[in-house]
Amino acid sequence: MATATAATAPMAAAAAPAKKAPKDLPAPNSDFYELAETLDAEELATVKRVRAFMEARVAPVVTKYWVDDAFPFELLPAVKELRIGGLAMHGYGCAGGSLALLGFVQMEIARIDPSFSTFMGVHIGLAMGSIYIDGSEEQKQKWLPPMARFEKIGCFGLTEPLVGSGASGGLTTTAKREGDTWILNGEKRWIGNAPWCDVSIIWARDLADNQVKGFIVENKIALKVVQNGHITMKDVRVPEASRLQGGNSFRDTAKVLRMTRYAVAWMATGCAMGAYEAALKYAQERMQFGKPIGSFQLVQDLLAKMIANITASQCLIMRQAQLHAEGKLTDAHAALAKAFCTAKCRETVAWAREVLGGNGIVADFKAARFFADCEALYSYEGTYQMQNLIIGKAVTGLSAFL
Ligand SMILES: Cc1cc2nc3c(=O)[nH]c(=O)nc-3n(C[C@H](O)[C@H](O)[C@H](O)COP(=O)(O)OP(=O)(O)OC[C@H]3O[C@@H](n4cnc5c(N)ncnc54)[C@H](O)[C@@H]3O)c2cc1C
Repeated sequence: MATATAATAPMAAAAAPAKKAPKDLPAPNSDFYELAETLDAEELATVKRVRAFMEARVAPVVTKYWVDDAFPFELLPAVKELRIGGLAMHGYGCAGGSLALLGFVQMEIARIDPSFSTFMGVHIGLAMGSIYIDGSEEQKQKWLPPMARFEKIGCFGLTEPLVGSGASGGLTTTAKREGDTWILNGEKRWIGNAPWCDVSIIWARDLADNQVKGFIVENKIALKVVQNGHITMKDVRVPEASRLQGGNSFRDTAKVLRMTRYAVAWMATGCAMGAYEAALKYAQERMQFGKPIGSFQLVQDLLAKMIANITASQCLIMRQAQLHAEGKLTDAHAALAKAFCTAKCRETVAWAREVLGGNGIVADFKAARFFADCEALYSYEGTYQMQNLIIGKAVTGLSAFL
């Protein structure tokens, strides 16, 4: 802000004194169609608890962590108090609740910080979700309670340095059974939480039947290069009891991905909401030509398009939650939500950045953070193209996968 004022100071001195922004403008609200009204009182209380935590504890510090490329470990004790570990999972000490509630919570978290929602998404959705969906009763009893309490943190290793979108048929990490032990060899790339987590879900190709299988690997399994979450496994020995008993092919991996893609659609919508609210507040306060820039028609056009994108995404993800509650949510439904909401988020955060002018590329003004973080949401958990291939197969009945 100070830099911008200094740069325009000579012009400002010659022009008429800038007027103050009109008072009593509406506070930015990105829930235009009042989606929160669909929650019951208990669910709403959970969402409000998460919002209060994100606004009071995360918002003030997160930009510094973002700039420093660091994780806010200091916040973990307070996260434990939120009672959201294992939302939408039932039993095993999990928080329970509906999948809609999980979505709302992830949207709230991403509204302040998409990185924090990614941490949650990896731990709850991918790591706990793999055990909840594909684990044996014994594995659930052992791992889910401490993970729900955030005492054990998990990661999910599917992607490899040379295999991303083609993971279903092309994993190069191998699993070889020797009696009651499996020997894992290979590398995993981009693995969120990997540098410091306690338990890794590793997906590898069984040399015997060529199927993708999941393994629960405890603690440091090999050379985990801190920071970038690159995992290298050389003859890592895992007992048969730690193989996900229900994870016998990539179809079982896909069951986990369906749920996490569902959640990424909510996170992308939250990311767009955060960017929109930052842009709207800025537009109400930033004075140019003696008026708030929010009073200019072309700026209002951007804001209207942003809230339209957000509202369309919110309605779509709500219907997605209803489909799940009705037992009808398919891979294609989740793929459509992930593709649409991340694409609309991308459009929205770019408009938010534009509303902030030069300040849109400065970390202190929030929009830049949402703008950059959206790119990861757009590509992880399956790229836009991969989601569209899943949708294309569902609507045509013809697979374009190789
Ligand atoms: C921040 C971040 C966090 C992540 N966290 C995790 C994690 O915790 N665990 C994990 O396992 N992975 C994780 N990933 C990996 C992520 O899921 C992959 O990056 C993603 O699946 C894409 O794989 P890739 O990067 O290898 O791209 P590629 O597969 O090489 O794709 C490159 C481009 O080619 C396109 N493309 C590829 N194949 C086709 C095709 N058949 N038709 C049309 N277009 C095609 C893609 O859409 C994309 O645009 C993370 C990634 C990021 C960026």
